[in-house]
Amino acid sequence: MLNPTGAPLVRLERVSKAYEEAGRSRVVLHEVSISLNAGELVVLVGKSGSGKSTLLNLVSGIDLPTSGEVWVEGRPLTKLSERERTLFRRRSVGFIFQFFNLVSTLTVLENVLLPLELNGITGSQAKARAVAMLDAVSLADRGASYPDKLSGGEQQRVAIARALVHNPALILADEPTGNLDAETGQQVLDLLDRLTRQAGKTMLMVTHSPEVVGTADSVLRVREGHLVQEPAVVAR
Ligand code: ADP
Ligand code: MG
Repeated sequence: MLNPTGAPLVRLERVSKAYEEAGRSRVVLHEVSISLNAGELVVLVGKSGSGKSTLLNLVSGIDLPTSGEVWVEGRPLTKLSERERTLFRRRSVGFIFQFFNLVSTLTVLENVLLPLELNGITGSQAKARAVAMLDAVSLADRGASYPDKLSGGEQQRVAIARALVHNPALILADEPTGNLDAETGQQVLDLLDRLTRQAGKTMLMVTHSPEVVGTADSVLRVREGHLVQEPAVVAR
């Protein structure tokens, strides 16, 4: 699906990333180029340590490439100031992690309110949106609980609510079921699919789930610093 201007939502242009280690530079990604159109689900696969999380961090602007450019919604991330990148990330990106990363000192509702507050949305309007989002992940009755009182699957559902509540242009998910049992993981993936793909949202996800791989618009394997397009996926 193309956005009205026809430009991709995300574009990486010859992006390289090297880490300095003990005075030596180690290349993790080498001149990687990809495009993500609005409404697409793109899946990243690859061995542990191949650079999948590194790639997500470059797309979210948490980290900067050693060379090349990352464009999101037409913005060249390396040209932004750190402040501008922070604002971009808060507004435009929703991140879902393997280990949930909820704030343990905040209640479930407060966790979901956080992205709204960071975007200047407060008061009854914010509360209504957070409550509606908790309802969408079937946790409306757990708003007052603290994260450590919830199961892993419930915590990830809160994290999904938090990632979506401010309606970001782009959702990034890094092995969202990596810390869940198979059945719970499948429930989380079904929920994520309903709230993202079926709602026309754009997502870049690291996962090895065959179900997700089988329905993705494209599947890219990170291997030895390069991105390799996996064979055409089965028809939906
Ligand atoms: P994946 O998510 O595919 O498991 P990562 O992107 O986390 O892989 O890591 C890719 C490689 O980059 C690994 O070898 C890892 O050790 C290295 N790496 C990741 N982050 C850093 C960092 N901040 N400093 C140095 N090396 C790093
Ligand atoms: Mg990783």
